[in-house]
Amino acid sequence: MKYLLLIVGVLLVYWIVRANLRRRRDRIEAAKQDKVLTDDMVRCADCGVHLPRAESLTVRGRFYCCAEHQRRHDPGA
Ligand SMILES: [Zn+2]
Repeated sequence: MKYLLLIVGVLLVYWIVRANLRRRRDRIEAAKQDKVLTDDMVRCADCGVHLPRAESLTVRGRFYCCAEHQRRHDPGA
């Protein structure tokens, strides 16, 4: 009976430590993801909407959310 309690205690400690480690790793991953998102977000020069750089139009160093806004904002380009 004493050993059973010991085993349960060890398992409990192991489980708590593992849960803490996982939570910390999740937080680090989330922070990393946040950073990637904020790094890759650009602002439409016309309407000001934020969108991922990969989905934006870049004309003469400015970002746009769509071709229509690019034309409206900078007709000469
Ligand atoms: Zn726009």
